[in-house]
Amino acid sequence: MTSARTRQRLIERLRAQGIRDERVLTAVQKVPRHLLVDEALASRAYEDTALPIGYGQTISQPYIVALMTQTLLAAGTPRRVLEVGTGSGYQTAVLAELVPEIYTVERIEPLMRRSRQQLRSLGYHNIHFRLSDGSWGWEAHAPFEAILVTAAPKEIPEALRQQLGTQGRMVIPVGDGELQELVLVSRQDGEATEERIERVTFVPLVAGNLCAG
Ligand code: SAH
Repeated sequence: MTSARTRQRLIERLRAQGIRDERVLTAVQKVPRHLLVDEALASRAYEDTALPIGYGQTISQPYIVALMTQTLLAAGTPRRVLEVGTGSGYQTAVLAELVPEIYTVERIEPLMRRSRQQLRSLGYHNIHFRLSDGSWGWEAHAPFEAILVTAAPKEIPEALRQQLGTQGRMVIPVGDGELQELVLVSRQDGEATEERIERVTFVPLVAGNLCAG
């Protein structure tokens, strides 16, 4: 079930759902999602669904990962991306296939450790990991040309707006409970515009204390 054919079928489904960016489809095809979920779930890794990764969190659905990546990169490939919510590292790996430098922040320590170890052993060396509350961004490396958030705040955190570069793009789910929308914030010389992309369901962005597992 983890064969090249199974992955190819996933790519065909994504294409049928409207993912058109060939760079994104190629990246999704390359990333071994089955190695980023628990062994017991590996046989379901190329179904287009979210799956549990422990600690009450989920690995994002491939369609949503592809849609967010396509939206983030639609105006060109950024040099550096800030990602909030590393989780399993699946979205991180898709980004790392496409962008030179990734800065990713996770608040649950065992998830951060596991994804760091897995992604390194898969040969990704362009990812910087941090255990932190990502609603504060990663100030030391700001501004970012692109920011991608994979957990939903009720409102866009001010620090993330401030760490977005002057021509930057941010893709973020926003909303309360299951009523969330994927929002694209794009800055053009200081002016920020917001565009709603699609209804989505993410786990909440939890501000405050870190979690040791
Ligand atoms: N893109 C990930 C999605 C994981 S779910 C994947 O495909 O696996 C969202 C993740 O965001 C969880 O791991 C959760 O712990 C993390 N998260 C939630 N609030 C956070 C915060 N304030 N700072 C950093 N990470 C956060």
